Amino acid sequence: MLPLRQDYLPFSRPSFGPEEEREIIECLRSGWITTGPRTHRFEEAFAAFCGAPHAVACNSGTSALQLAVAALGLGPGDDVLVPSFTWVSTAAVVAHQGARPVLCEIDPQAWTMDPVWLERFIETRYKKDAAGLMVGPEGGRPRAMIPVHYAGQAADMAPLMELARKYGLKVIEDAAHCVGSTYQGRHLGLIGDVGCFSFYANKNMTTAEGGMLICRDQALADKLRVLGMHGLSKDAWKRYAKGGSWWQPVVELGFKFNMTDIAASLGLHQLAKVEGFNQRRRQLAAIYDQGLSGLTNLNVCQDLGRGVHARHLYAICLEPGAPLDKTAMIAALAQRNIGAGVHYIPVHIHPYYQDNFGYKRGDLPVTERVYDGQISLPLFPDMTDDDAAYVIDSVRGLLAG
Ligand SMILES: *Cc1c(COP(=O)(O)O)cnc(C)c1O
Repeated sequence: MLPLRQDYLPFSRPSFGPEEEREIIECLRSGWITTGPRTHRFEEAFAAFCGAPHAVACNSGTSALQLAVAALGLGPGDDVLVPSFTWVSTAAVVAHQGARPVLCEIDPQAWTMDPVWLERFIETRYKKDAAGLMVGPEGGRPRAMIPVHYAGQAADMAPLMELARKYGLKVIEDAAHCVGSTYQGRHLGLIGDVGCFSFYANKNMTTAEGGMLICRDQALADKLRVLGMHGLSKDAWKRYAKGGSWWQPVVELGFKFNMTDIAASLGLHQLAKVEGFNQRRRQLAAIYDQGLSGLTNLNVCQDLGRGVHARHLYAICLEPGAPLDKTAMIAALAQRNIGAGVHYIPVHIHPYYQDNFGYKRGDLPVTERVYDGQISLPLFPDMTDDDAAYVIDSVRGLLAG
């Protein structure tokens, strides 16, 4: 193996330049720091970038998902189909609204929601009641699905949308990894009813914390905006501006999920750079692909060519026969000064979901097989080719025993 590097290579690091610094300072000096002109400019720019009719900014990707679930009216008695292989937010937002997260299987190549499995699952899980409507064992009706576009690659949307039509399901896209990703020429988030993005610190572009919703329907966009701002009627953010009115009726049970103009200051410039960031991510992924090929004990999350891949993660999976397991590999990489991640501990493995929804290990074998060996390698735009070569050398060396 190459000699030990002296500095720590993190799993991820955001890239900022003088543009972000200048914009934040101007925002602070403008006297308007929370939702205002910069957030609205950012929403317009994001909508234009995606080709979306509407975009609503919020304070995290989780908030975006929460608003989507709330705005679609999902609640008690509703089942929402969610892949278990995701960040816990995708399921938590469903449970918060009183609906049931029904955890689903992924396919073994791209690690996204498996439509073949899903159809079989729906057909076995739900029975027809006296009125001819589908009902699950806990009494819930299937109402929606939240496919996750894992690592920046689209879930298999054509057959998933087919199932959504067949069973009358709403579709929320968890596009947290996907600024810049497409499916059949359309930006992700525009295929279902609503798409949710995250601008968390390690995502393809960041506002430190932040999120965005996109949708095609004006009424839905209005509802998302109202729900995200205390349930106050439209344009409530202007109430402290010149000409703003004191009369602000609350028309919905709302949340406080709006984006600040400080965050939007970052977002405006990150968005302008994100295509370049993603290009660099794809170059690094290609280096990894080539450097890690031919290893018998290692699988890689595959790019199945479903569209433009934003390459949020470079995810690998150690096979059961590998000379060291995932925990040992992560520890050994840390000793080599390499930061690695796990994406994700499946939702059905977390104690809360086992205790409250009856899930257990053994429920979703493909998800568990991937999880047991899964590691995410460092990937961020400012990483050098040499950094990637060092990681490859370390992984190969460690797998050689
Ligand atoms: C990051 C992420 C979220 C949540 O986004 P936050 O901005 O951290 O709240 C949701 N789903 C997935 C798949 C994510 O990766």
